[in-house]
Amino acid sequence: MTFLEVPLQIFRYKPGESPHYDTFTVQVPDTAHVLDAIDSAWAVHDHSLTFRRACHHSSCGACALRINGVEKLPCITLVTDVWDGHSPLRLDPLRNFSLGSDLVVNVGSFFQRISVQPEAVEPPDNLSQFSRFESCIECGICMSACPTVAADEKFLGPAGLAAIYRARKATDDPQEVEHLLALADGEHGVWRCHSAFECTEACPQAVDPAGKIMALRRELTVRRFKKIGRR
Ligand code: SF4
Repeated sequence: MTFLEVPLQIFRYKPGESPHYDTFTVQVPDTAHVLDAIDSAWAVHDHSLTFRRACHHSSCGACALRINGVEKLPCITLVTDVWDGHSPLRLDPLRNFSLGSDLVVNVGSFFQRISVQPEAVEPPDNLSQFSRFESCIECGICMSACPTVAADEKFLGPAGLAAIYRARKATDDPQEVEHLLALADGEHGVWRCHSAFECTEACPQAVDPAGKIMALRRELTVRRFKKIGRR
């Protein structure tokens, strides 16, 4: 096994203090993930470094951050895939969230957005048409990557709208359908999306939130045409 000397340029912020970067050089095996390098920076250099981690295998979403400006899960991102071998590897918290401490952001607004939860869904007989939207690990990466959230802080956001779509697919109850589609159709709903598809590109779980937003738009458009046709 070969060891690497990796300079990490880490965003630092504590409430009441000015944000800045600290650079720590860590020694990690060439098989290490970025989260191992952050662990090492904490263990060797600075115990006050704040970051989140839990599962270490991309099932909890807790560690999500930006690596050289791109949203990723450091627990499954190999150092050798993102480090050029000499420049500092830059680590920043997710965008479009308020700062908590160092690499940790406040996720309350995100969980508010995805509070539309589906009922348990039975797989249909035709499995080829079944999508597992519950693959969402609630990492917040899509919200960080979304240009619309940056412009409209009330935008329901990719994961929030995907949750509405998922709930919509789980029910045929007319009242519930009306309620969900009204949410999606609202001022901060699907029509605010700029169709950049950056959420879908960034999502580590292939949830395809942008695809779900487009599907909600299609359903809303069809319903409008039907209403006009009935006049
Ligand atoms: S939709 Fe994808 S990127 Fe967004 S929170 Fe869920 S898993 Fe993360």
